[in-house]
Amino acid sequence: MQITLSSGKTIPMEMHKVRIVQQTWLHPIDRRHRAMQEAGFNTFLLRSRDIFLDMLTDSGTNAMSDNQLAAMMVSDDAYAGSESFFKLADAVKEMLGFALTIPVHQGRAAEHLIAKTFVKPGQACIMNYHFTTTKAHFEMAGGVVLELYQDEALKTQSDNPFKGDIDLDKLTKTIDELGAENVAFIRMEATTNLIGGQPFSMRNLQAVREICNQHNIMLVFDGSLLMENAFFIQQREQPERNVADIAREMMTMVDLYYMSARKGPAVRGGMIAMNDQALFDRLLPLVPLFEGFSTYGGMSTKEIEAMAVGLREMLSGDIAGSGAEMVAFFVRRMVEENLPVVTPAGGLACHVDVSRFLPHIPQTEYPAGALAAAFFLVSGVRGMERGTISTDRDIDGNDVPAGVELMRLALPRRVYTMSHIEYAVDRLKWLFEHRELVRGLTWISEPPVLRFFFGRLAPIGQWDVQLRKAFCTEFGDDAM
Ligand SMILES: *Cc1c(COP(=O)(O)O)cnc(C)c1O
Repeated sequence: MQITLSSGKTIPMEMHKVRIVQQTWLHPIDRRHRAMQEAGFNTFLLRSRDIFLDMLTDSGTNAMSDNQLAAMMVSDDAYAGSESFFKLADAVKEMLGFALTIPVHQGRAAEHLIAKTFVKPGQACIMNYHFTTTKAHFEMAGGVVLELYQDEALKTQSDNPFKGDIDLDKLTKTIDELGAENVAFIRMEATTNLIGGQPFSMRNLQAVREICNQHNIMLVFDGSLLMENAFFIQQREQPERNVADIAREMMTMVDLYYMSARKGPAVRGGMIAMNDQALFDRLLPLVPLFEGFSTYGGMSTKEIEAMAVGLREMLSGDIAGSGAEMVAFFVRRMVEENLPVVTPAGGLACHVDVSRFLPHIPQTEYPAGALAAAFFLVSGVRGMERGTISTDRDIDGNDVPAGVELMRLALPRRVYTMSHIEYAVDRLKWLFEHRELVRGLTWISEPPVLRFFFGRLAPIGQWDVQLRKAFCTEFGDDAM
C-alpha cells in the first residue's frame, strides 16, 4: 500500500508490525576491506557476519508472518502421506487452481525435473527471458535456450510498463522456422528476474496461450515472482481487479507451473503444479530419485506448512505489492539523486545501471562485479553482480558480454526499512561522485559453469586501496 502525505509525496506503507528483530552490525571500512579481499571480490563469498545490509537476494531471506511460524508448529513429519502436504495441495488448488502438486526442495529442483522430463537434445526452449539456473538446466539436458524479448526489454531507461513481454512476431517466426516439433515448450517467467523484475502483461500471456494452442506447444510458467507480476498487472493494466483474481486467471493459461517458494511465500522450498495427469505421471518417477517422496519432495514438513500459509498470504491485497512498493521507493530516491538506475521499478530489487555508473570500465573487466565490490567496501551493503560475470563463456571459451550490466540490490520482503534504503542511496551517491577511482576486475580462479557463484577475482591496479583512502579522508579511519 502507498500513503499520500500532506506534502503530496507518497511513501510505501507497511501493513504489518515488527515483533521479532535480528541484530545487524556496521563494521569499520578496515574490516569490510579485509572481508572483500578474503572473498575474492565476489560478494557471494562474503560471510554474513561482515555484512551490514544483505541485499544479495530476495531468495529465502524474506520475513515470515506470525501465522506461518504458528503453522510450522503443527507439521506432520510422516514420510509418506503427510497431512502438511495436503494443506499445501489445498492452498495450491484454491489460490492457483491446480489439482496436482509436487513439492521440490527449491525452484531449480523443479527446473531440473522439467529439463530431464521435457527437454530433448536439440530442442528449443523458448522464453521471454532466462534465469541463471533455468538456462543451465535446460542446456545441460541438450536444449537450446531462445529468449524472444522485445528490443525495449534491455533498455535501462524506459517507461514501458511491460518490459517482460515476449515478442509475439519473433515468437511466431521462430516457431515457423523451427517447426513446432522442435520446440520443447514456451516458458514465461513472471517478472523477468535478470532484467530487473519486469512484468509481462495479461494480454501478452493470452496471446502466447493462443500461439501454444495453434501449434500444440506446452506453456511452462515460472511463477517464482508471480505475486509481483500479478500486482503490476493490477497496477498497470487491470486496476479494477484484485491480485488474487488476476493470478488465478493467469493460471488458467498454464500447462505446467513451477516456482521457487523462497521468494513470495517466504519459505525454503519450491513446487511444480498442473492439472494434466499425464504430465504429472511423467514427472513423478524422478521425484523420489532426486527430491524425496512425493508428499515432501526434499522440503521440511515445517516449511511445507508455512508454504501453504505463505501462498495464501502472498496474493492478498496488502502483501502482494508491499515488496514492490519498497523497491519503487528505492528507485524513486535513486532517480531524485540522479543516480543511474533501471526504470520503471521492477518487483524484487533496485537495479543500478552500471554502464552509466562506471562507463569507463569495459565489459571485459566486469564493471558490475567491480561496482558490487566497491559498494560493499564503502557501505557494508551486499549487492549482486548481474552482468557479464553472471553470463558464462560460450563453448569456444569466449566471454559473452551481457546485454545489460547491472548491480542488483534486492530487498528481502518485510525485512528492511526506509532508513536502510536512505543509507544505501547515500553511499551510492558518494560512490558515484568518486566513480573514477573504481576500475575493473580480473580472474584469479574461474569455474566453467555458473562462475558468478564461486569465482575469485582481483581488482586491476589495486583501486580498492585508493577508494578506501578517499573514503577515510572524508569519513575518518574508523568510519562506518
Ligand atoms: C529464484 C528463481 C529461480 C530459482 O529458484 P531457487 O529456489 O533459487 O532455486 C528460478 N526462476 C526465477 C524467476 C527465480 O526468481
